[in-house]
Amino acid sequence: MIETVHSRSRISETSIPFSEFRDLEASALDGIVTSIKDRMGPSLKILGHHYQQDEVIRHADLTGDSLKLSQLAGQDQACRAIVFCGVHFMAETADILSRPEVAVYLPDRAAGCSMADMADLDSVETAWSELAVHLDVDQITPVTYINSSAALKSFCGRHGGIVCTSSNARRVLDWAFSRRPRVLFFPDQHLGRNTARAMGVPLESMALWDPHQAMGGNDPATLHDRRVLLWKGHCSVHQMFKPSHLDQFRRLYPDGKVLVHPECMMEVVDAADLVGSTESIIQTIEHAPAGSSWGIGTELHLVNRLASRHPDKTIHFLSPMVCMCATMYRIDPPHLAWCLVNLERGSPVNRIQVDPETANWAKVALDRMLELR
Ligand code: SF4
Repeated sequence: MIETVHSRSRISETSIPFSEFRDLEASALDGIVTSIKDRMGPSLKILGHHYQQDEVIRHADLTGDSLKLSQLAGQDQACRAIVFCGVHFMAETADILSRPEVAVYLPDRAAGCSMADMADLDSVETAWSELAVHLDVDQITPVTYINSSAALKSFCGRHGGIVCTSSNARRVLDWAFSRRPRVLFFPDQHLGRNTARAMGVPLESMALWDPHQAMGGNDPATLHDRRVLLWKGHCSVHQMFKPSHLDQFRRLYPDGKVLVHPECMMEVVDAADLVGSTESIIQTIEHAPAGSSWGIGTELHLVNRLASRHPDKTIHFLSPMVCMCATMYRIDPPHLAWCLVNLERGSPVNRIQVDPETANWAKVALDRMLELR
């Protein structure tokens, strides 16, 4: 995880060290978490992202995707502390959207997002400067997926840009194209490409921007024809699904349907029956008829949870490999208990606080997205 000056997490010198929690029995850890939740009552909200492991999610007051969680927690008037069982950018978003009296904590500060780390502010500012030599950057809208640092959301806020999620990416790109002819989309090339193609933008009108090469690896002369510049980033979890996995599923379940997340590569999305965000995947399975069969291409913990919640349907994880979000998996019961004990005793650990200047501009970009709903 890249930790920048734009967002800091700290451990107080008086905190009880994590080593005192690491080897505790699961039942002892559950008891610690449950009793602190009882004592702190509505002033504490534990948020659990859909990809979180069951041992943690069972303690969550609210579950959902990152934006839904941040918005719900931000509305709760009694809440004073949010413990976000997700990854770093999610805790930053919760800090930006919550009321000033609410403090946000991440139980393990090493819980980052490999995709978010693929686009840092320096690289994006370098790209913007390089683009400015050959194109009018006032005619480019920077669009960042919500899976990005607060610093990048802030960059978008300052440059007339916007944030998107996997469920509203199309609406956001519509908004962007109604204002300016070009988009720089980061950090996930797949969500950008899949969304733009679904809107009718041909592949020839897109370019991949590799931040490790001058001009992103592009010949400046060709950029004039490109409407969508796609940052060369990806989700290490969703990138593991391959078209051959769909073939294997369809051989096993000829009547089954394949449902994948738009962070999957274009070839997988093209071959799927349905594409949707985590919330949309959950809703689709909930409303599917009993006896139906589904091959699902998203994070393993969510797929396993759907399978146990819907025993009347066949839920098949699409890949033969284990595709789980390893960084989110760092938030485990020992870290949750450690975070809560120190929070209750007044020596909090891992508070995530975005500096006011970054938060202000990031909120501008988030608000532009929220106004589109
Ligand atoms: S699943 Fe992928 S995009 Fe989501 S938090 Fe994990 S690494 Fe990041």
